[in-house]
Amino acid sequence: MGLPFPFSAIVGQDDMKLALMIAAVDPTVGGVLIIGDRGTGKSTAVRALAALLPKLNVVPGCAYNCDPAAPGGLCEACRMRHETGTLSVALAPASVVDLPLGATEDRVVGALDLERALSVGEKAFEPGLLAKANRGFLYIDEVNLLEDHLVDLLLDVAASGENVIEREGLSVRHPARFVLIGSGNPEEGELRPQLLDRFGLAVEVKTPSDVPARIEVIRRRDSFERDPQSFIERWREPDEHLRDQIVAARAALASIETPDTTLESTAKLCISLGTDGLRGELTVLRAARALAGLRGDRKVTDAHLRQIAPLALRHRLRRNPLDQAGSTVRVERAVEELFGA
Ligand SMILES: [Zn+2]
Repeated sequence: MGLPFPFSAIVGQDDMKLALMIAAVDPTVGGVLIIGDRGTGKSTAVRALAALLPKLNVVPGCAYNCDPAAPGGLCEACRMRHETGTLSVALAPASVVDLPLGATEDRVVGALDLERALSVGEKAFEPGLLAKANRGFLYIDEVNLLEDHLVDLLLDVAASGENVIEREGLSVRHPARFVLIGSGNPEEGELRPQLLDRFGLAVEVKTPSDVPARIEVIRRRDSFERDPQSFIERWREPDEHLRDQIVAARAALASIETPDTTLESTAKLCISLGTDGLRGELTVLRAARALAGLRGDRKVTDAHLRQIAPLALRHRLRRNPLDQAGSTVRVERAVEELFGA
């Protein structure tokens, strides 16, 4: 796999970095959809973020990366071991699992060996990619090319935090809490609006078009590939700073104040954009709170809402034939109408 590129050394792509950090602070914002050209470092960014996060306490050898300190969320094997003794602890980085296009459902959710179950009477379950992704990230490149039913299934599991496999009256369930990151190239087919809406945040990434930024991208990539160790060492401090911000935001999340006026502004914003349902509003609120946490603020303000609105709402707008402006522009316009330029 090689060493991961340092998160803080990624040039530009501020929206993408912010969305990923917010998802790391509060996974309940839902997944992140990254829309953009090939070669814009989407997968690099996800790996970089996972490597940046504090290591997890896991039960060594467990296929689901169970947390020994959370007896409520253990898999069956760990629960049994927990009942008869104490679970040992190991440190592991948050996992990043790639979901390849063309993966079968068995490979994703896990495979239940019905024959063995019926003949020998034991539950033979081969954990799939969702097991590996527990407490980490599930990355789908070109999510728009994945079969709809699989995307639906992944979003269901991501929302519930549990994978349930049912075949012929047999059932297996295991914890599967992960942040779903989908990347898509708009030129290769669109996601159904119903699926779009289920991603918490959406960001657009572009290859930088100004010369100095491109030079910097190439310079850093070249220097990383020539000597990864010393490149990582050079970016250690900024990376540690980001890690501290994420850790502090996680700890502060529950005590960050959300004034009624913020809720009101959020509702007005969603009404003026005509976004359906409450999911958009809930996401704006949670993401704004996570942003406040990252900034070290004790209270969610309009400034947080302004910054979050495009990320949380741009993919929830219905097409308006009378308004050909892109969805990001429409969100920005609504924000300006509400808060002033
Ligand atoms: Zn376990």
